[in-house]
Amino acid sequence: MRPTSAIVRLNAIAENFRTACRLAPGSQNVAVIKANAYGHGAVEVARALQDEAPAFAVAFFEEAVQLRDAGITQPILILQGTLGDENIGEAAARDFWLMLNNRQQIDRVLSSKSTRPVRAWLKVETGMHRLGLEPEEAESACEALSASGNIQPDLVLCTQLACADELASPVTKQQVSRLSSIAAKHKLPLSIANSAAIMAWPESHAQWNRPGYMLYGNSPFATAEKNNEGLLPAMTLASEIIAIREVAPGDGVGYGLDWVAQRQSRVGIIAIGYGDGYPRHAPGGTPVLVNGARVPLAGRVSMDMISVDLTYHRGAEIGDSVELWGTNLSINEVASSAGTIGYELLAGLTGRLSRVYRK
Ligand SMILES: *Cc1c(COP(=O)(O)O)cnc(C)c1O
Repeated sequence: MRPTSAIVRLNAIAENFRTACRLAPGSQNVAVIKANAYGHGAVEVARALQDEAPAFAVAFFEEAVQLRDAGITQPILILQGTLGDENIGEAAARDFWLMLNNRQQIDRVLSSKSTRPVRAWLKVETGMHRLGLEPEEAESACEALSASGNIQPDLVLCTQLACADELASPVTKQQVSRLSSIAAKHKLPLSIANSAAIMAWPESHAQWNRPGYMLYGNSPFATAEKNNEGLLPAMTLASEIIAIREVAPGDGVGYGLDWVAQRQSRVGIIAIGYGDGYPRHAPGGTPVLVNGARVPLAGRVSMDMISVDLTYHRGAEIGDSVELWGTNLSINEVASSAGTIGYELLAGLTGRLSRVYRK
């Protein structure tokens, strides 16, 4: 059996969900499990949170259908709402909640011939300038939606924070106060906070929060270790050494012979590559754990393999265990070395990588 897999501890995800609840005691949390639960497996994660999360969120309709077809019974919020001719009646019947991001989506719900009302969240633009109605339009939209029999009475007003992970930025407070002033007139429940805001901006906590990244146990902040609130990394990306080779000074290793031995060296080959989602742009020196010891990546990441310099880790042998990220090596550190963020690494794990679930 291939030694390479993402080992996922589902109880860590449940524990991280409880951390999100503890940090925002007055809020309910919609567990965000879009993009295959940030690479962890949407159905498995939903099952692990089934007794605790009052609702789940995904990006688009098909992601919600996949969960429902797998037997997940909670309401599922569709963050981008309907994007094409998805059936509003089907959304209502399947207990999907629709984010309404623009006038077209609102009009489609208002003119729907569905016999059941759908639950809607209205997104308001407060500073990110991406999705959502302008505040001036939101007023009339709230009235039209509240008066429509096509909408359940508990409309939620929602916005998305642009800079919640920047602790010195004034933007979050501005966005919160813009949304609150609209909400005050309509007395509607609000939803503002993502993971970073749950952890750092209590003023953004509202009836509904939307934690994603933190559920998987990693800090959404660049200065990670300071703000991790005891989150438990849920995934270990694991593999093994499949070959070890002595390399003479001046000899190169891997495609392009990018890494050149400066002295007599020992190089280990590990059975993981960008075909699994290990970032191809990770440069030489990116840390890898071999038997728990940090060794540097050496040479280019290829589709099925990476190489590491074991010259100063002489005890290593074929079959030794490797951690690419996980409980002992923060994914944020690997991401930063590769010039990206942990979110992208998780979302980029490919279908061929097997996920192994531990309780
Ligand atoms: C993805 C997403 C979230 C979750 O964000 P995290 O930073 O992963 O916590 C929350 N709200 C919306 C609208 C999203 O698209």
